[in-house]
Amino acid sequence: MIGLGYVGLTTGLGFAKLGATVVGVEVSKQKLDQLKQGEIPFFENGLPEMLKEMMNSRYFLLSDNLTEALSGAEVIIIAVGTPPDSNGRADLSSVFAVAQNLSKELNHSCLLIIKSTVPVGTNRKVLQIVCDGLVARGKEEVAVKMGIASLPEFLREGSALADMMNPDRIVVGLSDASQLPIVEELHKGLKAPWHVLSLESAELTKYASNAFLATKISINNELANICARVGADFDLVRRAIGADPRIGEPFMYAGPGFGGSCFPKDVKALIKIAKDYGYTAEMFLQTLKTNEKQKNVLADMVIEKFGDNLKNKIFSVWGLAFKAGTDDMRESSALTIINKLIERGAKIQAYDPEAMKMAKSLDYFGNNPAISYFEDKYEALSGTDGLLIITEWKEFCAPDFSEMKKRLKTPLIFDGRLVYDVKKMKEFGFEYHSIGRKFE
Ligand code: NAD
Repeated sequence: MIGLGYVGLTTGLGFAKLGATVVGVEVSKQKLDQLKQGEIPFFENGLPEMLKEMMNSRYFLLSDNLTEALSGAEVIIIAVGTPPDSNGRADLSSVFAVAQNLSKELNHSCLLIIKSTVPVGTNRKVLQIVCDGLVARGKEEVAVKMGIASLPEFLREGSALADMMNPDRIVVGLSDASQLPIVEELHKGLKAPWHVLSLESAELTKYASNAFLATKISINNELANICARVGADFDLVRRAIGADPRIGEPFMYAGPGFGGSCFPKDVKALIKIAKDYGYTAEMFLQTLKTNEKQKNVLADMVIEKFGDNLKNKIFSVWGLAFKAGTDDMRESSALTIINKLIERGAKIQAYDPEAMKMAKSLDYFGNNPAISYFEDKYEALSGTDGLLIITEWKEFCAPDFSEMKKRLKTPLIFDGRLVYDVKKMKEFGFEYHSIGRKFE
């Protein structure tokens, strides 16, 4: 398993649990050292325990030596990052760097698997690079027996391990159907419907899936913004429309805009893939535009209440991560919201159960005197002019409202996740503004 980030580590441990012997290779010495100590470089439920269990069982080994790790491998899985480049295209430099290394180090035939999210055509290019290297080293007989499979990953940060062990589907792209048994063997023990596709269809499926989900969020956010204006309650509307099986209730939420390492980058990359083939994906361009607008909604509510000058105002923020269950702050709407308030002179008292270490490591957030961090969510409220709820952590759902009222200078809440009941908040004496609902 080459690359031990969210995907490589989780799926590597998962395959080890299913009975494979997995050698994890990671280029970052710091990450590798942490893993050797049994520490996970990011927050993800259940992974520390699984790492310990699999390392003790010797089914999961760690290595910084690619040559050693490759020896005898029947399958080589590439799970390195594919972040957006400055134009929004998937940056494939890590994937191709791995392919170049394999072309120099590999001495036997095996199945290559690309788990990273990559544009259409990448699997074939990687196989070509590896085979060209083998041929150049006089290993033609190895090159002809090499195979490649696309195995896109659908795990979600926050439930990564559970998603790996209970997938809703297994999508595999193959150029040669004779490679299927080895992919099946790798997943033996998992119960899920299989979708065996061409390499191109499998590559596109991952982007299509994320573009669809991101667009679903943007549709919900648009509906929520309309609901709030006309006096409808989005929370009730989403349930009612979700009862139509063609729409479906899962994933019908409104919020402060999508973030994270996947949705924004994959929608951008799909737009570029289409453009490279002469097609303008208008719908997905609009998905991104709607999302950028949505990231401002919560801060705009504050500005509407207090005006554009927020000097001498202090706001508490509950939640910095882009969603609950992770410390990932990539493209989190917290970045846009907090930045917008600070630009207008406000100070921020922030609390997040997992993402504060991450926030402090970010240039803008870590060194900004306008932001202070609190280890206790109630302490973060003390003396502030209002609370903003940005991440839907469970611990924010049923707090001690009287303690909140005691701490806040004004009992004012701006809720980006629709976690409380509007009527109850009124009864408790809060001024409560939330996305998708009107407070009168
Ligand atoms: P990540 O950045 O967390 O991890 C990638 C790892 O690969 C890093 O630890 C990096 O140091 C390592 N790496 C880079 N070059 C290497 C090399 N030459 N040799 C060994 N290690 C190397 O990324 P991630 O979130 O795990 O995502 C990996 C891929 O999976 C991406 O294409 C992403 O789009 C996709 N994906 C991610 C998620 C998710 O929720 N994070 C879900 C599905 C798919």
